[in-house]
Amino acid sequence: MQDVWIVGGGPAGYTAALYCARAGLSTGVLEALMPGGQMGTTDHIDNYPGFPDGIGGFELAQAMQKQAERFGAVTKTGNVREVSLDGEVKRVVCGDGSVYEAKAVILACGASPRELGLPNERALRGRGVSYCATCDGMFYRGKEVVVVGGGNTAAADVVYLAKLCKKVTLVHRRDKLRASGAYTKPLKEAENLEIVWDSVVTAIEGEPVESVQLQNVKTGESRALPCSGVFVAVGNVPNTAFLKGHVALDEQGYVQAGEDTRTSVPGVFAAGDVRRKPLRQVVTAVSDGAVAAHMAEEYLSAR
Ligand code: NAP
Repeated sequence: MQDVWIVGGGPAGYTAALYCARAGLSTGVLEALMPGGQMGTTDHIDNYPGFPDGIGGFELAQAMQKQAERFGAVTKTGNVREVSLDGEVKRVVCGDGSVYEAKAVILACGASPRELGLPNERALRGRGVSYCATCDGMFYRGKEVVVVGGGNTAAADVVYLAKLCKKVTLVHRRDKLRASGAYTKPLKEAENLEIVWDSVVTAIEGEPVESVQLQNVKTGESRALPCSGVFVAVGNVPNTAFLKGHVALDEQGYVQAGEDTRTSVPGVFAAGDVRRKPLRQVVTAVSDGAVAAHMAEEYLSAR
């Protein structure tokens, strides 16, 4: 039994762990795989203050973990399958059957990349379809690839892949990117980038991937585009399947919690990308982590 179990070891989770541990609470972090969450798979982070030359996402994740552990937080590997959050003792059950109990729980389980929803997409994962340019980009060195999406992830993927690949084609369903203006210059400077506007990928062909079918959503015209890889960057879905029926979620599945990170269940707090919020960045995740730890401490001291 810990004072607090934190579900998820991304920036929100390890910041919550740092603050909880420094407050003298016995604190554990449950992480499915590696520290960092989505930040951990980001090549280079330029918008987290304090690093004038930027910093690698995985490097920052390791530093956050180490810092929280310096104050006594522990990390356990586990993929949470089930929760029981009502009542004074909260229980978290992992896929391997291990059970973790705490007086308070901080949900910092983030979000995962959304799929395009094409029939063979999952089968082609690792055989030409990827959701992480920094993890898989090197396999496509000197090749032609497609990036799908129009947000910050798609823009960051293009900038990263353009340095490795022979050609990058960005396919976006509208005629304007939603990516931040910070990407305007690097996108303009990528000489091997072509942007295909108003278009969607309707099929992925070959095994491994050899081409995609593109359809212009305005004219209805379709054409094949040869490529070796497809990087899908069409947003995220929150990792909340195991929370359905246990805490209030919004229509998209994000945890209903305000700036105070309090959820519908007393003693359960939500921090970072898993929470309904207007801006999902490392800096807003760490801020949530600190608030959630503060609220958990307040909850525990009032018991
Ligand atoms: P996002 O901002 O939600 O953008 C998703 C993009 O995919 C949008 O352009 C959307 O088109 C398109 N899209 C959605 N569903 C689609 C579908 N089924 N088929 C084709 N296109 C589809 O997601 P994101 O870029 O992954 O970013 C997620 C969060 O992480 C954001 O808060 C973002 O700011 C943050 N992030 C920040 C950075 C950074 O600051 N450097 C880097 C990466 C991510 P529409 O534009 O038409 O909606």
